[in-house]
Amino acid sequence: ALTVTARLIHDEGEHLARNYDPLPVVVSSAEDVWVTDVEGRCYLDLLSAYSALNFGHRHPELVAAAVDQIGRLTLTSRAFHNDRLGAFAAALAELCGKDLVLPMNTGAEAVETGIKAARAWAYRVKGVPADAARIVVAAGNFHGRTTTIVGFSDDPLARDGFGPPTPGFDIVAYGDAGAIEAAINDNTAAVLIEPIQGEAGVIIPPEGYLRAVRELCTRHNVLFIADEIQSGLGRVGTTFACDREGVVPDLYLLGKALGGGILPVSAVVGDRDVLGVFRPGEHGSTFGGNPLAAAVGLRVVELLGTGEFQERATALGHHLKGLLDELLGHGLTEVRVAGLWAGVDVEASRGTGRDVALRLLERGVLVKDTHGQTVRIAPPLTIQAADLGWAVEQLRLVLQAP
Ligand code: PLP
Repeated sequence: ALTVTARLIHDEGEHLARNYDPLPVVVSSAEDVWVTDVEGRCYLDLLSAYSALNFGHRHPELVAAAVDQIGRLTLTSRAFHNDRLGAFAAALAELCGKDLVLPMNTGAEAVETGIKAARAWAYRVKGVPADAARIVVAAGNFHGRTTTIVGFSDDPLARDGFGPPTPGFDIVAYGDAGAIEAAINDNTAAVLIEPIQGEAGVIIPPEGYLRAVRELCTRHNVLFIADEIQSGLGRVGTTFACDREGVVPDLYLLGKALGGGILPVSAVVGDRDVLGVFRPGEHGSTFGGNPLAAAVGLRVVELLGTGEFQERATALGHHLKGLLDELLGHGLTEVRVAGLWAGVDVEASRGTGRDVALRLLERGVLVKDTHGQTVRIAPPLTIQAADLGWAVEQLRLVLQAP
């Protein structure tokens, strides 16, 4: 007889497109850092839905904000005003030190919005000839799955088969400010980068890179767009990964944790001289800025305003780095840590990243592999040090006995 898990996975596969290959666990409930599957087994969540669950599963204050709002008003569309959006926009703008917010839903939509804003700014403010604007992006980037975005990916799995690619993008090496500067010309509208590359495997650029990008963007009158969708909102121990170098981009792209793990909420945040380029009717989204999203997003911004989550990420991140460094040479070939966010490379003799993820699953730990040998670790920022220690101990055991 099939287990409940096997039956549910089989049945799901009958009518679901195969664009994912999930680990064989069927989750049915969760609280904070722990999830429970349909067999009643518990797992520690070290993925946090790619950092969308920075505050843990069903954070009580976020759930309360959502439930309260569901009881009053969920959706108006932007054809009308709602009584929640203004407060959310004001709080988020203040968190970012910027004037304006353009709310969307998913990360990819925020990226697309940033691209449109940069192009419109290039034509209307900078004076770039029509349809000639270019945007410099980095090798190894991951900004989402829409056709324009995958067209400037250099990952064949993301890009190939979905062309023709949208023109107007120049890909240069990540972490090399000189390469960006060499790619800039009179028609360059923006540089779009992740301050730390997430899907690439938590790739941390050399110290000084973000400062150099900021400086050269200012000097060449080019917008600096920071995709902080995965790196931002507390994950790396500061509100934004750009804060690590004291750098402020022209546009922040935010998503994932902005919705508190409850619903998709994304935003582009910038000053009036850039985001002010949009005119009514030129851009939008049926669900963007809906009152439910605004109520939850406001509470997220308030949680970040306390600084508590950033402090936890810093302290726990140091702890995590110490524990993972002990595994170097004992199954791990490289450890990269920024706040409570780690990418570890698994020695080939111990199996692939996916093998490690499968063996950790058996031991009650959820992680996700990326690019073959890499496993990424990004627990909710609410995790206790003892649970983190237990999880790394499971990793040690898994690496010891392939
Ligand atoms: N940008 C970055 C840096 C991301 O990590 C992701 C998702 O992993 C996205 C954009 C796309 O976000 P979404 O999946 O919500 O479209």
